[in-house]
Amino acid sequence: MKDRLRRLLFDLMLIPGLSGYEGRVRRHLANALADLGFASRSDRLGNLIATLEGDADAPSVMLFAHMDQLGFVVRKIEPDGFVRVERLGGVPEKALPSQPVLFCLGEGRDRPGLIANKSHHATSPEEKYRVVPYAELYIDTGLDNAEAVLACGIDIGTPVVYAPKVVDLAGDRVAGTAIDDRAGCAVLVEVARALRKVKRRPTTHIVFSVQEEFNLRGAITAAQMLAPDIAIQLDIMLATDTPDLGQRGDVRLGEGPAMSLYSFHGRGTLNGTIPHPALVALFEDTAHQEDMTLQRSAHIGLLTDSSYVQLVNAGVASIDFGFPTRYTHSSLEVCDLNDLVGLTGLLIKSIQRINADFSLDRDDFIL
Ligand SMILES: [Zn+2]
Repeated sequence: MKDRLRRLLFDLMLIPGLSGYEGRVRRHLANALADLGFASRSDRLGNLIATLEGDADAPSVMLFAHMDQLGFVVRKIEPDGFVRVERLGGVPEKALPSQPVLFCLGEGRDRPGLIANKSHHATSPEEKYRVVPYAELYIDTGLDNAEAVLACGIDIGTPVVYAPKVVDLAGDRVAGTAIDDRAGCAVLVEVARALRKVKRRPTTHIVFSVQEEFNLRGAITAAQMLAPDIAIQLDIMLATDTPDLGQRGDVRLGEGPAMSLYSFHGRGTLNGTIPHPALVALFEDTAHQEDMTLQRSAHIGLLTDSSYVQLVNAGVASIDFGFPTRYTHSSLEVCDLNDLVGLTGLLIKSIQRINADFSLDRDDFIL
């Protein structure tokens, strides 16, 4: 399983898919599903959906991960050919200078670029410690006038992503572009593969969602259409085992999957997910009985599309579930393949336990 996860994750990390431009990722995943014998369909927003029919008396499940990644959109092309961009998603501005990027023009026609960093020998002492806002940055394509840039297909509105890259670190640790959330997508395919052979299972909708990094709301249309009782969202969990994050939590890379007990984002978004207690109990009990590891995460600042999915119809019992990740939203994020294996295993075991007796009644969970 680890080798399959590694292969699919590496393939997915090398495919560009800015929010709103998930097409190439969707096609790759639809092919992966087809290889497993699944028919898949898309809604108008671009969500990719495959349904495994199961026990009609059990609550239905939507298991989802987002296909899109953060990046940029071309805002202006300067007369001398330098390209200015608008950010799309939570781009860390202090980690942008000197990053290679890719202008997404179509398969085989993409063009490379480099986010410029002011020549060090001309940088004043004050400038050395200042973060340059993205609006002041510019991208060098190697072309030296606007006409040439336009002629190669780069125009206002062109999607731009970090240059896709994968670095194999020691052990089973991987650094790569958009581990958020291609690793979640890879796990989803593995879970679908295993559930295929399971006789007793709830109806499970596998959803690869769109535009999570843009406005967190792409998965809403899939949830509205599928009307699931339960939604389990797979995404990064902030690893807090680096020297700069020790006080933030207790999630360690390589020590297994994690569930979120609380997430919130205040700046404009004003949303978050407090998981349904039945799902917290489900994952805790399964991990305990199967002797699997499960970490816990609770903090403000990280938000996923489950925040919106939980509010569909009469409410969807929701939880954020995932794998520890370091250096989130940077051009290279780091995860551990063993955590993906653990996450896959725990999901497979847990979902099978959702049967006709599985209660989502809040009155059964009063603290
Ligand atoms: Zn994500």
